[in-house]
Amino acid sequence: MSFASLGLSDPILKAVADQGYDTPSAIQQKAIPVVLSGQDLMAAAQTGTGKTAGFTLPLLERLSQGGPVASNKVRALVLTPTRELAAQVSESVTLYGKHLPLRSTVVFGGVKINPQMMALRKGVDILVATPGRLMDLYSQNAVKFDQLEVLVLDEADRMLDMGFIRDIKRIMALLPTKRQTLLFSATFSPDIRNLAKGLLKSPIEVSVTPPNAAAPTVTQWIAPVDKNKKAPVLCKLIHEGRWQQVLVFTRTKHGANKLTKQLEAKHITAVAIHGNKSQNARTKALADFKAGEVRVLVATDIAARGLDIDLLPHVVNFDLPHVAEDYVHRIGRTGRAGQVGEAVSLVCADELDQLKGIERLTNQLLERRIMPGFEPVHDLPETHLKAPGHGRKKRPKKPKPKTGHRDGVRSGDLARGHKAPR
Ligand code: AMP
Repeated sequence: MSFASLGLSDPILKAVADQGYDTPSAIQQKAIPVVLSGQDLMAAAQTGTGKTAGFTLPLLERLSQGGPVASNKVRALVLTPTRELAAQVSESVTLYGKHLPLRSTVVFGGVKINPQMMALRKGVDILVATPGRLMDLYSQNAVKFDQLEVLVLDEADRMLDMGFIRDIKRIMALLPTKRQTLLFSATFSPDIRNLAKGLLKSPIEVSVTPPNAAAPTVTQWIAPVDKNKKAPVLCKLIHEGRWQQVLVFTRTKHGANKLTKQLEAKHITAVAIHGNKSQNARTKALADFKAGEVRVLVATDIAARGLDIDLLPHVVNFDLPHVAEDYVHRIGRTGRAGQVGEAVSLVCADELDQLKGIERLTNQLLERRIMPGFEPVHDLPETHLKAPGHGRKKRPKKPKPKTGHRDGVRSGDLARGHKAPR
């Protein structure tokens, strides 16, 4: 999947490429088409999933097709709970919109209001704001909403936690009812669903699992290896490590059957579990595996969902999953309850894109260990978390203010990983 196939136009694709992103993240793949279609969206996604680009890119795309904005008016409003997040979102808008003739600005409390009033005077296509300062600006006639087309509520759960519900409701009452509304939240709690009921019209719901869900006790590494050497490498790992119980994932049912035969041929007891097997066969396979009668359970992702096997010491990805989140599900099968676990992925050159997706999602580069005697002929190129030269520099953290501010940082906000504003 590429950004171009999602229906974004050249100026946006160019900005994305400038950032060094080559594949859309899961939330981007799910959210971008919905936003482009003009429907309301409710998205469960945490920071770190790429959610900001998930709404910013299609928002820019939509706004690039409209007419000019009148003075003091805004076409899209992005509400965030904190100044830090507002600054960060605004930075993304500027970055991804740099090849488009759109205007944007950011307003939040704790700084002078006058420059913000000046910035709004000509009108802006995108306004990023925290609720309190936005209300102040509205009450001084510095901002008008009758040209508003899109509303985005970012980190809606935190807005509720921080007590912004009344501000949000007051703002909503000022907006045109004919608009597109996008709501992002880490979870869909009952409170969020309640809020959404009043704000969104027949929203499309999408969600992604949080990244980095693997237990810290799991050692993860990859063995770069040619495709036709994967089975021998797995046998070597099992033999030499004297693994007694290992769960192996393959992408296809056919792959699971084939691997089971290859293992059996090397006198390693194995059984496959996948969608083509009857429920009885699956139950028996699982029981035999748990009883220690078979050493290897070979499973596809679908079959593995809901498998009740705890505390597995070893999980092997014989094939990398196409959907990066499945990697996190798979390796979540080991290292539970504080036990140490090991997750090994056998990665061939064809799987480079999947590897990149996993490393981006989990925000880590996986350690590579070449298996002696199985050095790959087809090289697995080096991977990077960001394209060289495009990484955002880490800014020093801003000291926490002594008291909470209605628009501002409550204790712990910075520690939650938001970047400090410029
Ligand atoms: P967010 O969840 O929006 O805070 O984004 C997390 C980080 O992922 C940010 O530093 C983005 O620059 C980065 N990012 C967003 N989308 C992608 C992508 N498709 N590929 C690589 N990095 C991305």
